[in-house]
This record gives sequence, C-alpha cells and structure tokens, in this order.
Amino acid sequence: MQFLKDRINELGEVRSPEILKVDRFLNHQLDIELLNAIGREFHKRFEDRTVTKILTIEASGIAIAAIAAQYFKVPVVFAKKVPSQNLDADTFETDVFSYTKKTTYKVRVARKFLHPQDQVLILDDFLAQGQAAVGLMNLVQQAGAELAGVGIVIEKGFQEGGRLLRADGVRLESLVIIDSMKSGAVQFRETEQSY
Ligand code: 5GP
Repeated sequence: MQFLKDRINELGEVRSPEILKVDRFLNHQLDIELLNAIGREFHKRFEDRTVTKILTIEASGIAIAAIAAQYFKVPVVFAKKVPSQNLDADTFETDVFSYTKKTTYKVRVARKFLHPQDQVLILDDFLAQGQAAVGLMNLVQQAGAELAGVGIVIEKGFQEGGRLLRADGVRLESLVIIDSMKSGAVQFRETEQSY
C-alpha cells in the first residue's frame, strides 16, 4: 500500500527506535481518505473468508474497523478497556499487557455481541508484541466463535507479534510491515507478507 507508506514517511514521527507516532492521520486526527483505502484493502485481502463480525479494541481500532465494516457490511464490536456501569455484567474478559503503557489492563465484550456462529475478523492499528491481538483472539475463543483472521494496518516486523501469530497458524494480513526505525528512518519490508 504505497498510499499508506507515503503517509507514514510524510507524517509519521519516530519517537524511539520502537515507537511510531501516527496521530496526524491514524489515531488522533483521522485521514478519512486513507482510512477508506485501508478498509477497501482489508476487504480485498479477506475476500476469501466469510466474516460476520469485526472485532477491535478501543480507542484507535474503532475508526479503522468502522470504515472497513462498510465494505464487509457487518457490525463492529469493540472491546472496552474502561469498566462502565453501562456495560452488561455478562461479559467475556481477558488481560492485555500494553506495550506502549507498560501496564496490564482488562478488556471486555458483552456476551450478547459474540456468538458461536460468528466468524470474526480482528482489526487493529499496530501489531507490536501481539498482546492486544492475542487478547482479542482469546475473547473470540471464549465465545466459541471462529477466527476469520487478523488485519493490521502497521506491523512492526522487528517485534514479536507477527512471528507469534503466524506460528500459531493465524491468517494475518498486515498492510505494511516496518523492519526497522533505527536513526529515525522507517524501513519498510519490500514484499508485504501475508499468510
Ligand atoms: P501489541 O499488543 O501488539 O504489543 O501492541 C499493539 C497495541 O499497542 C496497538 O493497539 C497500539 O495501540 C499500540 N502500539 C504498539 N506499538 C505502537 C506504536 O509504535 N505506535 C503507536 N501509536 N501505538 C502502538
């Protein structure tokens, strides 16, 4: 996805050799034209799979999932990080270790939104150590639903998440894979890797 690589090169900020800030277009200010292209690309890559629901995690995954869902024509469910009185008591929940915040938090989804007959596509903005994706996969498993695949906008290929998921046989589609961010320069992997 050249369009995405261009945005990362133009507007992404390498905060450390491991953290890329994308708040100008992906997770604070939103470039809707880019999100639309991302949604279309996820749909193309998972065309061979039946998807009945998209699952993501608040907050940054929501915009990505919502726009992609217009192509898949299925509902989006987002896992909640913050306990709320409005959330049903009957939830699937799991612990996720946050790589960026260095803390463990719980994520929850009301049981009424994930069913054994669901074929769930997980979408998220970044794949780093894979903890968010594994947590969401755990919720899918608890529901007895089937995992259709995992779609990631930016995989940091120098961290463990991609290797972990692929070794587990997960159908993982990352729109771009970054191999290195040393000295502030983003190096993309040439061939976008898929399952
Ligand atoms: P993981 O669970 O794979 O270690 O990390 C994925 C989650 O951490 C994503 O949902 C994303 O919000 C956040 N994250 C990981 N690495 C980065 C990064 O380099 N930049 C930003 N903006 N978020 C990241």
